[in-house]
Amino acid sequence: MPTRRPTHNLRALYASRRARATSLADGPGFLYTFVDRGRYWKLGMTSNFERRKAQWDNECPCAHRRWLPPIRVTRRRRAESLAHLLLEMRSMDRPKRYCAHCRRTHIEIFVFRGNWNRTWRIVIRPLLLRVAVQMFSRLDAHTDVSRHPDTSDNIDIQVSRPQ
Ligand SMILES: [Zn+2]
Repeated sequence: MPTRRPTHNLRALYASRRARATSLADGPGFLYTFVDRGRYWKLGMTSNFERRKAQWDNECPCAHRRWLPPIRVTRRRRAESLAHLLLEMRSMDRPKRYCAHCRRTHIEIFVFRGNWNRTWRIVIRPLLLRVAVQMFSRLDAHTDVSRHPDTSDNIDIQVSRPQ
């Protein structure tokens, strides 16, 4: 079932989430990424990458899964939330996918066409690094966003069109 939302909705969501103050429950960790069959990309967050990776491979064993290097972030929940929206903007689709390996339906799966290695290098890795770096920006909301209207969001959105 396709569930990619329209770009204008994603832009509005991104702006409001970027402006939202960080949860006290948030903290450092990693964004992790894997791709199934070179086409279905999963992005998640964890405080312990090796444990999360082992958990995935144990609970949903899949021979076609390829793990990419995790990216360290200072606030993992916020980073994941923003990265999901940016990925969705650039993806072909965000299907809910029934999984024959674990017999569950996976969510937050993003479809990208073309060579997976190129997708990682050209699209996804730069996008995740940008989110990771944003955490250090004084423009990023910590407690009171109203003092720091952020115009850099427009840049994100303009380059986030599917190609
Ligand atoms: Zn599965």
